Amino acid sequence: PSSVEVYLQKHEVTATGGDVPAPFMTFEDTGFPPEILREIQFAGFTSPTPIQAQTWPLALQNRDIVAIAKTGSGKTLGYLIPAFVHLKRRRNNPQNGPTVVVLSPTRELATQIQDEALKFGRSARVSCTCLYGGAPKVHQLKELERGTDIVVATPGRLNDILEMKRIDFRQVSLLVLDEADRMLDMGFEPQIRKIVNEIPPQRQTLMYTATWPKEVRKIAGDLLRNPVQVNIGNVDQ
Ligand code: ADP
Ligand code: MG
Repeated sequence: PSSVEVYLQKHEVTATGGDVPAPFMTFEDTGFPPEILREIQFAGFTSPTPIQAQTWPLALQNRDIVAIAKTGSGKTLGYLIPAFVHLKRRRNNPQNGPTVVVLSPTRELATQIQDEALKFGRSARVSCTCLYGGAPKVHQLKELERGTDIVVATPGRLNDILEMKRIDFRQVSLLVLDEADRMLDMGFEPQIRKIVNEIPPQRQTLMYTATWPKEVRKIAGDLLRNPVQVNIGNVDQ
């Protein structure tokens, strides 16, 4: 067997749905720009995690992805690093609204994602704003007005701000649904659907989930276009 086959088997990686590129088994394989690789190196990481290795080449091809992997498998950088590459390709002005929207179930998780985006996106000068409920809107709205590349948000608060017409979605071209199963468990489906309806249809959509029950399959079928499904390990089907 080839080294790719050995890698996929060893890490229990399966990918289905269309042509699947070889995983990036090393950081050198990624071809990421130096300002991105520098931050990864600073963090002391030695190689991509299996979910990163298989989803990064797919994300760079602008494919829609459903990634199913358990907690702690490195999903956050799994979407953030391709988001940085996406931002570099688009070169949008953040003053005109975000290019990337990440939906997350809780304030705590959203804040962690923002921290990771600012840390790993530092050399690439990525800006990131966090929107969540249970806190006054004024500061969040002020931050939005200053301009941002990435918005990380809980669905309830983002939907409120959208309804107030205080955020411009016209240049959003990458949508990430993180912990999709948890967001649905928490009852966020209506808000998620309203948010997605405001995003231009020519977008790339990445969905991350730890489990794959029928509710998650249904929303994936509605929101993603010909997704590639990537599984790590034995996830309940
Ligand atoms: P998940 O979202 O899948 O639960 P996280 O994205 O929170 O996982 O990642 C878990 C931990 O692994 C974090 O501390 C993160 O910084 C770290 N991590 C991410 N990618 C790598 C990597 N390639 N090598 C080593 N550690 C990594
Ligand atoms: Mg996560």
